[in-house]
Amino acid sequence: MIIDLSKLFDNEGESAGIACALDLGNVARWGRKLFDGPVKVTGRAENRAGIVSVSYAADFILDVVCDRCLTSLARPWRMEFSHIMVLSLNREDNDEFIVIPDGRLDLAELVSSDILLELPTSILCDEGCKGLCPVCGKNLNNGDCGCKRKPRDPRLDKLRELLQE
Ligand SMILES: [Zn+2]
Ligand SMILES: [Zn+2]
Repeated sequence: MIIDLSKLFDNEGESAGIACALDLGNVARWGRKLFDGPVKVTGRAENRAGIVSVSYAADFILDVVCDRCLTSLARPWRMEFSHIMVLSLNREDNDEFIVIPDGRLDLAELVSSDILLELPTSILCDEGCKGLCPVCGKNLNNGDCGCKRKPRDPRLDKLRELLQE
């Protein structure tokens, strides 16, 4: 979804509302589809004193599982972002500015990269999640399974990592 901001760059004081539902079904993380349903975006693009900015809120259902016990943690999220848009960079590179040379903004690309950057690196159902039993696969948050589990040997962890690659 492309929004054309070129007119906005030419007109100080002008603004435009943004309201849409993006289909980001192709966005994946940890090998899984990230979103359950569309990502609703509401916001505003405006030119204030010659500076063009885009601010928006994204509402979506994140279809993720706990990193340790794999329990589904699908729930609604809301994130808010604000960016300054420029047609070109005239000073040194600045990551905070988004460069759109022809004034056309790819909203889907912006929204998906914003959300991916904002997500925590690991998602747990609870800080104290006990994870799954490595022997029988039972969710240990629901009680112990009685399996004999050896304490983990950190040297084997390294080996396991290598084998998973
Ligand atoms: Zn968990
Ligand atoms: Zn077990």
